[in-house]
Amino acid sequence: MVGALVLGILTMLGLGQLREINAENTAVRVDRAGRAAATLLTERVEGSTVQRDGNGSPLSIEIPAEMMRPGPVWDDLVDDIGGINQGAANLFRFSSETSSFDRLSTTFRTPEGERVGGSAVEPGLIGAAHPAYDAIMSIEPFVGEVPVAGRLRMAYLTPVTAPDGSVTGIFAVDVGWVDDLDRINGEATDDAIALAVGLLAVLGTVGVVVMFLSFRPLHRLSGIAHSLGSAGNTDRPPTSLTSRRDEIGDLAKGLAKVAELRETLEHQAYTDALTNVANRAALIEELDRRFEAIESSDDGFALAILDLDGFKKVNDGLGHQAGDELLSTIAAALTTASGAGEFVARLGGDEFAILSAIGPRPVAGVDELIDRLHRCVSGDFETSSGEARVTASVGVVVIPDHGRTSADAMSHADLALYEVKRLRSSRSMVYEPHLSASFERQVHLTSQLRRALDDDELWVAYQPLYDNAGHVVAVEGLARWDHPVEGPIPPSEFIPIAESTGLIGELGAWVLAESCRQITEWAAAGIDVPIVSMNVSTIQLRRPDFVDQVAELLAAHPVARGRLCLELTESVLVPDATGWHKTVLDGLTALGVRLSIDDFGTGYSSLSYLHDLAVDQVKVDRSFIAAAVNDRRQSRLLRGIVSLGKDLGLNVVLEGVETVEAFGLVADLDYDVLQGFLLARPMRASEVCRSFGTIHPLFEDGPASASVAA
Ligand code: C2E
Ligand code: MG
Ligand code: MG
Repeated sequence: MVGALVLGILTMLGLGQLREINAENTAVRVDRAGRAAATLLTERVEGSTVQRDGNGSPLSIEIPAEMMRPGPVWDDLVDDIGGINQGAANLFRFSSETSSFDRLSTTFRTPEGERVGGSAVEPGLIGAAHPAYDAIMSIEPFVGEVPVAGRLRMAYLTPVTAPDGSVTGIFAVDVGWVDDLDRINGEATDDAIALAVGLLAVLGTVGVVVMFLSFRPLHRLSGIAHSLGSAGNTDRPPTSLTSRRDEIGDLAKGLAKVAELRETLEHQAYTDALTNVANRAALIEELDRRFEAIESSDDGFALAILDLDGFKKVNDGLGHQAGDELLSTIAAALTTASGAGEFVARLGGDEFAILSAIGPRPVAGVDELIDRLHRCVSGDFETSSGEARVTASVGVVVIPDHGRTSADAMSHADLALYEVKRLRSSRSMVYEPHLSASFERQVHLTSQLRRALDDDELWVAYQPLYDNAGHVVAVEGLARWDHPVEGPIPPSEFIPIAESTGLIGELGAWVLAESCRQITEWAAAGIDVPIVSMNVSTIQLRRPDFVDQVAELLAAHPVARGRLCLELTESVLVPDATGWHKTVLDGLTALGVRLSIDDFGTGYSSLSYLHDLAVDQVKVDRSFIAAAVNDRRQSRLLRGIVSLGKDLGLNVVLEGVETVEAFGLVADLDYDVLQGFLLARPMRASEVCRSFGTIHPLFEDGPASASVAA
C-alpha cells in the first residue's frame, strides 16, 4: 500500500517537473518566435519599425496605416513566419467601431487547405474579453496562452501602432497548442492514479489475506476464551495450536490450562464430594433443562426426593465414618438402578433426588420408580463398623402436573416427603395440591404459635385417670390453645408444628412449669393432689438440660416431688448406642419422677426393651381398645399386652375408654388405670379438682356392672 502511495506521489512529482520544463521551453520558443516574426516583418513591410526591450524582444511594431489591410504581402509573411515558428501567425487590425480587432491575415487553414476566412476580413476576433486585450490596448506585448477554437495556444502578441502612437492592430505569432501537454499530463495522471489504485487494491487484498491467515488462530483462541468465560460447553484449544512455539502457542497452552481448571471447578461445583453423584446445584440445572425440554412435548418427568429413615441412628450408633459409607453405598445403588433418562443427585445429609423421564402415562411409571427406590435403599447395609439398617421416605412430584418451575417441583416434592414423615403411615407420597394449603396453614400456625406462647393464649386442661375402684389416681395435663380469632386449635394440629419447628422445647417447658405451679396451687388450697402426668416430646427430652430443667422446677415446687409423671413416646425404648435415653431416664427417676410410655403399641417397639429402662408405666394406645370392642382376636391381643405389662411389673393404663362397650370390655382385664371420655373429658384445673377424692359413678357397682349393663 505504501509502495502504491509512493509510486503515485513520484508520478505526480515527475509530471510536475515535466510540466515546468515544458513551460520554460515554450517560453523560450515563443520569445524567439516573437523576435523572428518582428524582424521578418520589418524586412518585408516597408516603413515598419520595431520597438524592443533590452533583451531584443519586441514591445510594439509601428506599421504605416495604409499597410493595414489584407493582401498577399501579409499572407506570404504569415505563412513564412508560421513555417519558421512551426506555429501560426496572424495580423489583426483595430476597429474603432467595435473596439475589437479584426483579422486581416492568418496561417490557419480549413481542412480543405484554404486559408481560414479566405481573403475576407474576419471581424471582432479579439475583443475586451481576450486575455491579451488590455495589454495590447496599453501598448504592451502579451506573451501567454490564448484561446483558439476552444483550446489554448502559446502566443506572442505584439501591439501594432500608427506613427501617432495609437494602437492600430496586433501582430500575433504562436508556437502551437499548449494544452496538449495538459491533456497528456492529465492522461498520465489518470494512468498513474489508476495504476496506484490498482496496486493499492492488489496490495490490500494480499494484506487482508495475509492478515486473515495470521489472525485465524487468534480468532479461534478468542472464541475459546469467550466460551471459557461464559456458561455452556467448553472448547479446548486444538493441539495444532498448543504445539506451536510462538506467542500463539503460549496463549493456546494458557487457555488449555484454564479450560482444564474450569472443568475441575465445574466438576467440584456440580458433584457431591462424598458420593460422587450430582449435587443440588446440578439437580437444579438439570431440572431447568428438563422444564425447557417438555415445553415443546407431551412428555413429563417425575422428581422423587428420598430421605433415609434411621440414618441418624447409624451415625450415632456406628459412627460418622459408617454413615458416610452408607451414603456412598446408597448413592451407588441408586445410580446402578437408574435407567436411561434418569438423574441421581444427593441434596445433602441423608437426602437424595431422582429425576425420571416419563412418557404420557406417568402414574404407572411413578409407582415403578417408588418401588425401585425403596428396594434400593431399604435393608441392611454392610459398613466397616457393622451392619446398618435404614428405610426410606419418598416424596414425588409429577411434572408438569405438579409444578411449572424447578422451585415448585422441589418444594412440592419436599412437601410430599414432609407429609410422609409427618404421617408415618406410609413410606411414600405423590404430591397433592392440598398439601400446599396445609403447608401454608402450618406456616401460618407456626408464626401464630410463637406469638401465642408470648401472649398467654395457651392453657393446660387436665383429664382424670381412674383406678379400678373409680378413684382419681392421676390427671393428665394436656396443652390447649385458644386462638383469639380461630378459636381452639387442637393439639393434634399444633403439637406436630411445635415439634417440627423446635417450638416444642419452649411449649413443653411452659406446660411443665404451669403444671408444677398448679400442683402447688392445689396443695396450697388443701386439695389432695394425685399424680400429674405430662407429655414430653422426644425432641424436648433430648435437650441436654432437660433433667436440670425438671430438677429446677421440683426445687421451686417441692410439693410436686413424687407427684410428677412424664409420658414419653415409644421411640425412647429403641436401643441406642449412645445410651442417651437411659442416662436421661435414670436422671429423671433419681428426681422421683415417674415415667410412662404413652400410646404404647403404635411404635412397633418391644416390651422387652422396657426391662433395661427405668419405666414405671405403659399407656396402651387407645386404638387397641377401639379395635378390641368389635374383634375377639384384637381383644385377646389387648388382654395379652395388659398381662405382659403386669408381668413386667409395670403400671398398665388403658386410654380411650370412650364407650360403655369399651368400659365393659376392659372390666375383666388386669389393668391398673383407665382414661377416657366416658369417664371424664379433659377440663379446667378448677373443675378437675372437684373429682379428687371421690368415686366415679360408673364404678359404684364395680367395672363389671358396666359390662353387664352393656
Ligand atoms: P395423648 O398424650 O395420648 O393424650 C391423650 C389424648 O387422648 C388427648 O387428646 C385426650 O383428649 C384424648 N382422649 C382421652 N380420652 C379419650 C377417649 O376416650 N377417646 C378419644 N378419642 N380421645 C381421648 P388431646 O388433648 O387432643 O391431645 C392429643 C395429643 O397431643 C396427646 O396425646 C399428646 O400426645 C399431645 N399433647 C397434648 N398436650 C401436649 C403437651 O403439652 N406436650 C406434648 N409433647 N404433647 C402434648
Ligand atoms: Mg399422653
Ligand atoms: Mg396417649
